[in-house]
Amino acid sequence: MSERKVLTKYYPPEFDPSKITRTPKHLRPTGPKTIPVRLMAPYSMKCTSCGEYIYKGRKFNARKETTEEKYLNISIYRFYIRCTRCSSEITFKTDPKNMDYTSERGAKRNFESWRNPESAELQETDEDRLDRLAREEADEEENAERNAMEELEDKMEENALDEIMQRNARIERGEKGGKEEEALAQVRDVAKEQRDAQEREDAEAARRAFEVAKAQQAKPEEEVEAEYQAPKALETDRSMQPPPSFEKVKRAKKPLVPGLVRKTEPPPPAPVAVQVKPAGLGLGDYDSDDD
Ligand SMILES: [Zn+2]
Repeated sequence: MSERKVLTKYYPPEFDPSKITRTPKHLRPTGPKTIPVRLMAPYSMKCTSCGEYIYKGRKFNARKETTEEKYLNISIYRFYIRCTRCSSEITFKTDPKNMDYTSERGAKRNFESWRNPESAELQETDEDRLDRLAREEADEEENAERNAMEELEDKMEENALDEIMQRNARIERGEKGGKEEEALAQVRDVAKEQRDAQEREDAEAARRAFEVAKAQQAKPEEEVEAEYQAPKALETDRSMQPPPSFEKVKRAKKPLVPGLVRKTEPPPPAPVAVQVKPAGLGLGDYDSDDD
């Protein structure tokens, strides 16, 4: 282990120290001096030799070199990094003018919309910007007016829809109210006529039946015979005239409107005044709901 640190060196016999010329430090050739630094990629880039993407913020052991270039007496530095996949050298420089970095070799900087030199945003001058802002403000005022109109129209449509839905719900529940009252009144009139006709028919049948009964009482000697013949006579009568029987009165009637139960006396016409509601506002019926 003593030889680990070399304390003595072998000098061959022909060694001549005078032949070694020692140049002063400031005269020695100075190449580009690089300093190893640790940095993060300042922008996303793509390696030109292998296509690997190197994203902004990736950390590298880099070499930093001070170039001869300057911007307003600010030194411009060059950095050397290596591709993470193919280890080819990538260089980029600082760009103090734009407070940015410029890609130099080995990689292509990725597209960044805010840097696109052709973009209108970057080419816009201060005058243009002022004009644009004034224009946008005018547009906004116009839009506000139009939006208010649209909002009003929307509200009206909404109200109409609401009204229709309420009416449908009422009809489904079999309640009265609103404009369907007129339709129901029409149906009720027809039903009333039918019922009146039925009553007239029944009265006629009853009168005839009483006449038959009176005629049978007038001939008591034929009473027994009549008992058996009466149905026959009625049947023969039925072919010519409506049957004088009360059984026909009990005719099953179908409900006119399913779920609508009609009372014996048709209710007085619905008070139309109650149904009056503010035009265009379909919310006036909430208080008239029974449930
Ligand atoms: Zn590469």
